[in-house]
Amino acid sequence: MSKTVHPGASRLSKIPPYLFAEIDRKVQEKKRAGVDVISLGIGDPDLPTPQRIVHVLQEAAADPANHRYASYFGLAELRQAIADWYGNRSGVTLDPTTEILPTLGSKDGIAHVPLALVDPGDIVLAPDPGYTVYVTGALMAGAEPHIMPLTAGNHWLPDLDAIPDRVAQRARLMWLNYPNNPTAAVADRDFLERAVAFCRRHDIILCHDAPYSEIAFDGYRPLTLFEIPGAKEIGLEFHSLSKTFNMTGWRIGWVCGRADLVGLIGQLKTNIDSGIFQAVQWAAIEALSGGDQETRAACDVYARRHRLVADTLNDLGWSIKPPRATFYVWAPVPDGYDSIGFASRVLDEVGVNITPGVGFGAHGEGYFRLSVTAPDARLEEAMARMRKLKL
Ligand SMILES: *Cc1c(COP(=O)(O)O)cnc(C)c1O
Repeated sequence: MSKTVHPGASRLSKIPPYLFAEIDRKVQEKKRAGVDVISLGIGDPDLPTPQRIVHVLQEAAADPANHRYASYFGLAELRQAIADWYGNRSGVTLDPTTEILPTLGSKDGIAHVPLALVDPGDIVLAPDPGYTVYVTGALMAGAEPHIMPLTAGNHWLPDLDAIPDRVAQRARLMWLNYPNNPTAAVADRDFLERAVAFCRRHDIILCHDAPYSEIAFDGYRPLTLFEIPGAKEIGLEFHSLSKTFNMTGWRIGWVCGRADLVGLIGQLKTNIDSGIFQAVQWAAIEALSGGDQETRAACDVYARRHRLVADTLNDLGWSIKPPRATFYVWAPVPDGYDSIGFASRVLDEVGVNITPGVGFGAHGEGYFRLSVTAPDARLEEAMARMRKLKL
């Protein structure tokens, strides 16, 4: 292939453009045309990072000790703060030296984990609909993604019995994500126990992506992976400060779990990045050590917004219940539309940006996702506009 005609690597050509980059382009176009677009398309908290965390960053940023390359493996104080947080939250002990690795947001860990743990030709099991990075990370490592469909009939949990034996035998890694993006589904203990047993039986690394573990309502407390006995023998869990503390722009999270696997990811990352800005690490320590009051208050805001969206959609003919966790609403598109057609219609007709379900995989077709991370007044305006939709 000519180098000038095809400058990119062939592995990139297997990867569709990142969904949100495409949507962002379309929204920018509308805005340039003078439309006041309300974006409910991306899961990015509108609420600010709590002030106490910002203050620690400000002070730490002024200290030259934090201006140099940070340790590849994160400050010992940060790994300890993560272990303490996990212990308080889940009653599980993690060794801060060997079982925890801070990452540049959890996307960093998720995208890179197949490069550290999976060989070309191995199978990576990924939920569909799902966070697209599970599949693209596998493709970039030369692995073969195998889709686990999530369906309403199965409460948006993968049907483990439907995974063929020959696939399970070649599978090296399985992705799960509960509370779930985009479906807002949650997993109960029974399902997680079955997933752990399945992965142990087939010698599959179970990767649980858990950035929404703290975004839950009405006293519901999502399970973390290592609350399941035996999970640490095969498991990794990915956490993030992004959603819990409204810190998406800060780029900090962690992977934790089985020590040799965490070590391999660390070994890979020493060749890719050079640690996390130390001032951000000090701020993360502050975040994790300050209790969950701010997160609970944010969840009260999301819960109120969820009720507004459910009331509005139900008045328009849907029948949805506010979810138990996450800041997403996942709902079927009206009859006669596919998901892209419906999302385009909503954007064109009332200037509200929602995400077509198919953007999360073929099994997301027929649904759309809306995020309640817009300021109250904007969300109220968006719902008022939805009432004017002619369906
Ligand atoms: C937001 C999100 C992440 C990534 O968050 P980071 O900002 O990279 O920590 C990972 N997985 C899912 C499912 C998400 O929704």
